Amino acid sequence: MDAKPAGPSPSPGDQPQRKSLDDRQKMTELERIRHSCAHVLATAILKLWPDAQFAAGPPVENGFYYDVEMAHRVSPEDFPKIEAEMKAVIKANQTFEKVVVSRDQALADAQHGRLAALAERSAPSKFKLDIVQHIPENEPISYFKNGDFIDLCAGPHVMRTGNIGAFKLTHVASAYYKNDERNPQLQRIYGTAFKNKTEMDAYFTMVEEAKRRDHRKIGQEMGIFTIDTEFVGPGLALWLPKGGAITEELEKLAKETEFLAGYVRVKTPHIAREKLYLTSGHLPILYKDSMYPPMELHESKEDAASAAPAQRYYLRGMNCPHHHRIFAAEPRSYRDLPLRLAEYGTCYRYEQSGELFGLMRVRCLNMNDAHIYCSPEQFAAEFNGVNEMYLKYFKIFGIEKYVMRFSTHDPARLTGDNAKFLNEPELWKQTEDMVRDTLKNSGINYVEVPNEAAFYGPKIDVQVWSVIGREFTLATNQVDFGVPKRFGLTYRDRDNTEKTPLCIHRAPLGTHERFIGFLIEHYAGNFPLWLAPDQVRILTIGDDESLVAYGKKILDELRANFVRADADFGTDKINGKILRAEEAKVHTMFVIGPRDKDANQVSLRLHGKGNQGAKPAPEAIANILAAIRERRP
Ligand SMILES: [Zn+2]
Ligand SMILES: [Zn+2]
Repeated sequence: MDAKPAGPSPSPGDQPQRKSLDDRQKMTELERIRHSCAHVLATAILKLWPDAQFAAGPPVENGFYYDVEMAHRVSPEDFPKIEAEMKAVIKANQTFEKVVVSRDQALADAQHGRLAALAERSAPSKFKLDIVQHIPENEPISYFKNGDFIDLCAGPHVMRTGNIGAFKLTHVASAYYKNDERNPQLQRIYGTAFKNKTEMDAYFTMVEEAKRRDHRKIGQEMGIFTIDTEFVGPGLALWLPKGGAITEELEKLAKETEFLAGYVRVKTPHIAREKLYLTSGHLPILYKDSMYPPMELHESKEDAASAAPAQRYYLRGMNCPHHHRIFAAEPRSYRDLPLRLAEYGTCYRYEQSGELFGLMRVRCLNMNDAHIYCSPEQFAAEFNGVNEMYLKYFKIFGIEKYVMRFSTHDPARLTGDNAKFLNEPELWKQTEDMVRDTLKNSGINYVEVPNEAAFYGPKIDVQVWSVIGREFTLATNQVDFGVPKRFGLTYRDRDNTEKTPLCIHRAPLGTHERFIGFLIEHYAGNFPLWLAPDQVRILTIGDDESLVAYGKKILDELRANFVRADADFGTDKINGKILRAEEAKVHTMFVIGPRDKDANQVSLRLHGKGNQGAKPAPEAIANILAAIRERRP
């Protein structure tokens, strides 16, 4: 699963980096089990192929892998054989023993082929040798041993191989050493491990269910979206009419909710001059690789004829800078705050083509964006308001499990070559304290994650679980004390001085792309009535003229009330009509025959739930309208 937040603004500088020793010690129990299982995998492979050369074997989301170089090409047919060897290692219940060694010792052992090996070998452990050579001078070097297997590793591990309750090898891929294509290509063997078999079985059941609910599959079957790589471009989703209906409903929900919460709506262009992003700090470096290259043009013929350089325009990667210029468009006083500017903003991000994935990772994003400009005194109330909005949405969508990941800065990285955060230690402390206090007081489920803030302030990634238990990162909230200052945004305070506002970036519904991708899986395409692209279909038993007239009357009434309703008045058999409607996931079917017409009633049928019996037509219509209006789940 893809865990990159699709929030209002990315946090530039999130480069993959070597985990610090501190970070490693924070591995969860499950991560320890999985990483330990990678050692067991290597032990098993060496028994089968003693010359195997191992590189890195970290825990990853949902499991672990170990990168290996060897002449034999591992395929899933080898898995039973490897798994049998792994089982023997686990059964032997070997202790994971940590040994701290000197750098010279580690270098010598690597030279003798003894690292990630069962015994000394004629060829050096070349990748481990390289890794030792890159361990910083001041860092201790350690091995972990189980049985005869010795690996260079900082740990941590479980106590014994027997603590690995259940495991399974899942797939094999190729990967470059250190993920750098200039390096040798290795075989990456993936597996997963759990505390016990029950948990592992539950996981694989979920994976199977997720495959069945794959948003790309259902999205295509239902006609929600398509990606026309040849004519439009990779990562640029086209919303088909059914997807259009869903995006409209989501925007309507957002607009109503935001209106009631005191937001005002703005509308801004999809492109802007380079100066905007130089001012925000996204350019020249931090965000450059994530933006489409600039368009260069002269504003006039005279301009083109002169020696003046061309103007550069960028497709926007984020909406905030435009909103900042709206704040700057008029003089502001404390009476204007909080100012909540909302827009379903379209952004463009140049994701690597290998990273693109259905609706989950795209190049054009329609974002439920807003920026709240407020004073420090107003912050807690505004931040709480945003959180309440999240909870309201979770209720509407039946999201029962969520967590807010509160990312803070690292004081060691405010200055120097390694700098990752704006050098404003006081402001970091103030805003992080404010966010922490507000989260604590509101009783919201959150965890604190150091060193992952945005460059301009602390951020909160909102993670939710779909109904089948799969985790999604839907949205990011960020507190920004840096960029308003860069834009010179000020308001005149009560004491007549000019002050810089704080800015809260928030996007509770994330982007249409990711949120609808999530909803497709969450509902398995069976959307609640208010969201369903096909809300009601009227099916006649036969095509008798008066019956069709009766059906038309009901259809007209539904459509006059903006219900997405259609009809199947054809001559074919009712069972065929029902089957077609079921296949299209039409939420509600009104089946009508001569008897229904005479009694002014409809036979109600719900998608996937079958016949619900006859209802008077006015009551059935009123129920439909109420369920839509109240957005019943
Ligand atoms: Zn290890
Ligand atoms: Zn923003």
